[in-house]
Amino acid sequence: MRATIIHAPGDIRVEDAPEPKMTASTDAVIRTVAACVCGSDLWSYRGVLPVAEPQPIGHEYVGIVEEVGSEVSSVRPGQFVIGSFVASDNTCPHCQAGYQTSCQHAQWVNGAQAEYLRVPLADGTLVATAEPPDEELIPSLLTLSDVMGTGWYAAKAAEVSAGSTAVVVGDGAVGLSGVIAAKELGAERIIAMSRHESDREGLHAGQDRFRLPSD
Ligand SMILES: [Zn+2]
Repeated sequence: MRATIIHAPGDIRVEDAPEPKMTASTDAVIRTVAACVCGSDLWSYRGVLPVAEPQPIGHEYVGIVEEVGSEVSSVRPGQFVIGSFVASDNTCPHCQAGYQTSCQHAQWVNGAQAEYLRVPLADGTLVATAEPPDEELIPSLLTLSDVMGTGWYAAKAAEVSAGSTAVVVGDGAVGLSGVIAAKELGAERIIAMSRHESDREGLHAGQDRFRLPSD
């Protein structure tokens, strides 16, 4: 299969790689429909994180289930699924308390920028849509793999509720997802803070899109 491999900062190549195989009865293998580049992929791309050896990259993904292990019961082959960037069992005490990224069995998903991906702990990690989504919905569903979940969690952790004023520090993908989440949770006033003038203008222009209340 084709997969992206990072060799060094600034050096990402699309290469032939072996297709992933199931390694546990709780795994699934999916055929990737869409994956994207996360801000944290750029840490190694920009040299902020060292790249010790060539490695697969990517952890934001949606796809079609190809195969599931014998212990997987919540998803089945053929379903369209959204996967989390952190695999979790969704059953341990941490997961039950709502901290799936701190699951006792958490595993980081990597190598999603490839035609196929092995997803550990498939029951806790993958969520199937009721129907295969329309093509134009796929980019929005892809945000649920990481940035939207992270922004949503930030707004929940800040206890945003109806009538709140929410301040979102930073206006990258997660910050903008935090703006959407705060709005969804009923915030009356949302203040997005940005270091970049061009982004500030973009935010202003995007007010209608995010349906932000005016000043
Ligand atoms: Zn857990």
